[in-house]
Amino acid sequence: MTRGDILNRASESLRDAGIESHRLDAELIVAHVLKCDRIKLITERDAAITTAESDLINKLTQRRHDGEPSAYILGHREFYGLDFSVDSRVLIPRPETEMLVDLAINCAPEGGKFLDICTGSGAVAIAVKHARPDLSVSASDVSPDALAVATSNAASITGPESVRLIHSDVFDAFRGERFDIITANPPYISPSCEGALQKEISYEPDIALYSPDDGFSVIERIIAGFSEHLLPGGKLFMEIGYDQGARVLSCAEAHSVRAEIAKDLSGHDRVAVLTPSV
Ligand code: GLN
Repeated sequence: MTRGDILNRASESLRDAGIESHRLDAELIVAHVLKCDRIKLITERDAAITTAESDLINKLTQRRHDGEPSAYILGHREFYGLDFSVDSRVLIPRPETEMLVDLAINCAPEGGKFLDICTGSGAVAIAVKHARPDLSVSASDVSPDALAVATSNAASITGPESVRLIHSDVFDAFRGERFDIITANPPYISPSCEGALQKEISYEPDIALYSPDDGFSVIERIIAGFSEHLLPGGKLFMEIGYDQGARVLSCAEAHSVRAEIAKDLSGHDRVAVLTPSV
């Protein structure tokens, strides 16, 4: 069997499962097993493959066919131009979350203190540290499993000890500490949506996705608690759901803090910019 044959077979199997990106996903699996670039699958499509390679390709294709996300099958995902290791202990970093990185690197003062809570794989914190090595970067998560993934991503991308990783539920472990910029991508999906979401999402950790009170419980704790963790002139940038802007604004008002909603490239509510009231 050749590279071209197995690629066609894998792509057809994923197309039959209704996967829109079937060709790309098949190319990624085949290239991963053969340890080559996707381009080599085309330029060397007649090269023979071994039985061990085809068995592994079939096994990984079956996992994708059954709905498992490519990032977990391949073990990594690109975010902000960097390669992050991911597995089912962490949410897969999304392109829309890159907005938090842009905002943080543009707003943080030279040599400032930066904190990313609900860090998961560490994607936001590590991308910020990579772009702004002058900042002192801390990151936290309530999940020890997620912190293990973030620790190994930091070690391989920005270096061991480059990011201070702390086990914390929202701000609990940061009593008395203040930062210039804080970012958060908290769980914000309503648990009632669980059955209606894409199959791929069921492979991701519930703790990273769902929050009681229509997805608002962690958001509200952040709005209630962030002011005492900001230095003068500081800001908090928080990712929110596409339909949560109005409720974030009224929640901010109820807690006497200022909020603005920034939209993503698709024109949806995406990031809440929070500042203390005075
Ligand atoms: N953006 C993710 C999604 O739509 C949710 C991430 C989150 O809850 N923080 O699946």
